Formats: sequence, C-alpha cells, structure tokens
Amino acid sequence: MRQAGRIVAEVLAAMREMARPGVSTAELNAVAEEIITRHNAIPAFKGYPHNGKNEFPASICASINEEIVHGIPNPRRILKEGDIISIDVGAIHKGFYGDAAVTLTIGEVDEETRRLLEVTEGALMAGIAQARQGNRLWNIIRAIQAYVERAGFNVLREYQGHGIGRKMHEEPGIPNFLGPRGQRPKNYPLVSGMTIALEPMVVAGDWHTKVLGDGWTVVTADGKRSAHFEHTIAITNGEPEILTRL
Ligand code: MG
Repeated sequence: MRQAGRIVAEVLAAMREMARPGVSTAELNAVAEEIITRHNAIPAFKGYPHNGKNEFPASICASINEEIVHGIPNPRRILKEGDIISIDVGAIHKGFYGDAAVTLTIGEVDEETRRLLEVTEGALMAGIAQARQGNRLWNIIRAIQAYVERAGFNVLREYQGHGIGRKMHEEPGIPNFLGPRGQRPKNYPLVSGMTIALEPMVVAGDWHTKVLGDGWTVVTADGKRSAHFEHTIAITNGEPEILTRL
C-alpha cells in the first residue's frame, strides 16, 4: 500500500505542475495513466463499475467548479483562469490500492474559493489527526464535520470515505458528518494496521447533489463550487501514516 500510495502521490504532483489554463482534462488523464502504468501499476478507476454497469472510462476523476466528484476527462473540457479542479486518482500495485485527491486552483481564484479549498484540506488533516489507535471512527467524523461547519461551509452527505486495502472500497464507510441517532455508522474502534481513505467533500452552499446525464459526474444541486481532498492513511500505535504523500 505504501508503494501504491507513492504512485498516486506522484500522479497528483504531476497534475499540480500541469494544471493551468488551456490544458484539457483528457491531457491530465493521459499523463496520469502514463505514470501509473510506468510503475507497473493499474489505474484503479478505469473500468470501475457503477450499479453493475456504467464503467468509468478514465484513470482520473476530473471535477471542475460545481462538479464535486467523478467528472469524466474530456478533450473538449479546457481549464481556464479562475477554475478549481478536483483530481482524484487510484492505483493498484501488486494487488494493493492507493486512493487520493486534491483540489487545485487554476490561476487566480476569488477569496471564497480560496477559503473553501483551505478549509477542505484542513478538515482532511483534522480527520487524519484523530485516526489513531484508541480512538473510534466517530472521532474522525466529528473532527472533519466540526472543522468544516465552524468555517461556515457544509460537508456533503451523500458521498463518503472508506476502508481500503485489497479493494478500493472496503468496510467501514466513513461519512463526513454524523447523522441523527439511528442513522449513524457503527463506531468502530480504530486499531493499528487499519487502512482507510478519508475524503471530505465540502460545499460553499447547500449539500444536496445531482448526477449528470453521463451517469457519473456529481454536481452541487445549487451550482455552487465544491472542494475535495483525500488521503489513504494507515493507523498505527502513534502518528497516522499518510500513504499517499511523497
Ligand atoms: Mg476514495
């Protein structure tokens, strides 16, 4: 998983270098796929099924502005000044998965957008800080939700983080909010050796979403912008280990 995580981190570093006005999301995808396969790894997202069909056609998800997650790379989708783009990527190395995402700014962005990104990444790090043996799953969830809501933003309800290892999505599902009593996830104890992907998705407006006609792209229902950051981490006896960092 460390090796898979490093490959994912290398892809995201390349995306950060490359994402600028005039670049298409298909070009980003091509470079991501080249890096993954050069390391003898497999793009984890390509061919990923949805409801038993509707396989994802690319190696990254590229989601611009009001798109939240699962955007499909497209040669006609060109980045422009002031955009933000969430790039999510997964790799399989020797049967083990890594999964991470960043949201990047394209040129200059407005003040609220800049804060949205800062708060989302801060929420991810607040969640990671709670991912330690002795804590429980709700400690992570509460930390993420509180960080976001204190800043005046909202976490998405309909998409969540997850266990990860020999599959991309394993138990437990890890929502970014704690719902009403009776609808909460099991409050699992966190144990050294568990590997999880935390991924707050944060909106400046309302948290309701819809899926576009392509069957994949998730957008905010109110058209406002969204940010998304993700790391795959390992829980240890001490500090959590971020696996998707160079
Ligand atoms: Mg994920």
